[in-house]
Amino acid sequence: MSTFKSLGLDENLLQAVTDMGFESPSEVQEKTIPILLDRETDMVSLAQTGTGKTAAFGFPMLQKINVDSRTTQGLILSPTRELCLQITNEMNNYGKYMKGLNITAVYGGASITDQARQIKRGSQIIVATPGRMKDMIGRGMIDISKIEYCVLDEADEMLNMGFYEDISEILSHSPKDKSTWLFSATMPKEVASIAKKFMHTPVEITIGSKNVGSENVSHEYYLVNARDRYLALKRLADANPDIFSVIFCRTKRDTQKVAEQLITDGYNAAALHGDLSQNQRDLVMKSFRTRQIQMLVATDVAARGIDVDDITHVINYQLPDEIETYTHRSGRTGRAGKSGVSMVIVSKSELRKIKAIEKIIQKKFEQKDIPSGMEICEVQLFHLANSIKNTEINHEIDAYLPNINEVLSDFSKEELIKKVFSVEFTRFYNYYKKSKDLNTAAGDPSQGDSKDSVRYFINIGGKDDFNWMSLKDFLRDLLQLGQDDVYKVDVKDSFSFFNTDAKHQDLVLSIFNDFKLDGRTISVEISKDSGGRSRKKGRRRGGDGDFKKGGGRGKGGFNKGGRSSDDKPKFKGKSRRRSEKPNAKGTGGRRRRG
Ligand code: ADP
Ligand code: MG
Repeated sequence: MSTFKSLGLDENLLQAVTDMGFESPSEVQEKTIPILLDRETDMVSLAQTGTGKTAAFGFPMLQKINVDSRTTQGLILSPTRELCLQITNEMNNYGKYMKGLNITAVYGGASITDQARQIKRGSQIIVATPGRMKDMIGRGMIDISKIEYCVLDEADEMLNMGFYEDISEILSHSPKDKSTWLFSATMPKEVASIAKKFMHTPVEITIGSKNVGSENVSHEYYLVNARDRYLALKRLADANPDIFSVIFCRTKRDTQKVAEQLITDGYNAAALHGDLSQNQRDLVMKSFRTRQIQMLVATDVAARGIDVDDITHVINYQLPDEIETYTHRSGRTGRAGKSGVSMVIVSKSELRKIKAIEKIIQKKFEQKDIPSGMEICEVQLFHLANSIKNTEINHEIDAYLPNINEVLSDFSKEELIKKVFSVEFTRFYNYYKKSKDLNTAAGDPSQGDSKDSVRYFINIGGKDDFNWMSLKDFLRDLLQLGQDDVYKVDVKDSFSFFNTDAKHQDLVLSIFNDFKLDGRTISVEISKDSGGRSRKKGRRRGGDGDFKKGGGRGKGGFNKGGRSSDDKPKFKGKSRRRSEKPNAKGTGGRRRRG
């Protein structure tokens, strides 16, 4: 395997690589960097989102420019202001040991005179959105007549957004003999035609197959009645307490509506769409980046700029009109080597779209059931137990302990635990105990619904680098069972659930009676919701519809663990992301702390 050094990077860039903690180059970096360093050539490079394309062009450009000159030598065009700022930021990190380096971001919605002033001081590299760039060239504020390198980043998205004319206009002001490097996740014919028009025999590099989504993303769909869409969304969020997600809607109006409803119901949510001012959008993105917001509801266009790692779930609240857009949506998760889930909430009439998408992404969807109320309660309980376990004790409390002890002196430890849990749990329980089954009866009832099926809880999960596929494989190997004998594998952050037929129950329990993985005891218990979410049981009335945020404990609440544990050794850390009460407004520690 190659190293950044073997790719030919200079010492000062290598130092920055080390500082950023990049251990080895990604595939696209491995393939592009040596060529771009070595030759003056045009290039078309296709690789999925999250594969490290910025560094693939960023390092060669930085190494090739002359920082002692104040002439603008490199131009990077990118589709949105968000991306433009991200690239600038990333490039500044790469070039932090290059004395005299000056990179200017040029984008709409900010002072044009400030940007012009910055460029006048001598920017070797300009990172720009096409609209503002064209504007500034027109006003004589930017001179790109001497650039040697031009990057068209996220070319497919730039064209999607209608920047073809602007790009043509901008490039007509640049020298013919520059090198043009085009980077894109997909290669629609518009991109091919741009390559043809603006480039000379470019080197072509394709990582993975074109149009295919990230390896790390699994795709799931949930079949519900169209009118239950919102309730289904809430259940999916409640069943994944650590969710950090982008939720896609088709229109600005729906985006706004869903976000407002989620906020009313106590979730840390916000909307991102084109009717917001640039300022408002920046604010939303900032809160999302810092995890103040756990669920970002967005339109496709507005979400184009989102480049946030660690997104756990993409939820397609509605499928996009153009099914090709699905790839862009699901590509928001599973970035930088992490795994992610793309969920689709569909009604029966949309099912054929799932088939069409499977063809495009060349992957199969898994049909899953919307979790039952009891399943959610169980998830929340275990999640709470884990949060308590991993909470660092605040010793400010010590002084009050004698008085607190006195108040609680009548209770045994067991009673106290029950009470503490009830604070949190009762709210979920009361809400969900009468909840109905949201799954429409289409399709064959899956195995898990039979009463001969047993559901188990196991104390390993995403935190231990499992996803549903790898956990299923792990269990099958261990239990020596066949392909379909372990099913309904549902991985949460620090624990998971799975089913087997009842006849395997003794085997499962005996194997896990005293089982260690890397020295840690792995325990398996039969889940209370065993036997599956019974559809019959679920057919009661009431539930879901009227749930408003937190009764329960109001303000305060448990410490939900910060992000400090990301680097803890496997099997030890507390839950990786902050974990919030999904529905208790005001209880979300993060909101107030942030
Ligand atoms: P793309 O443009 O292909 O969508 P980015 O360039 O935005 O991807 O990179 C995605 C993330 O991966 C960024 O956070 C970046 O810092 C990180 N990254 C890039 N290269 C590496 C590497 N070699 N090792 C680890 N992380 C990397
Ligand atoms: Mg990129």
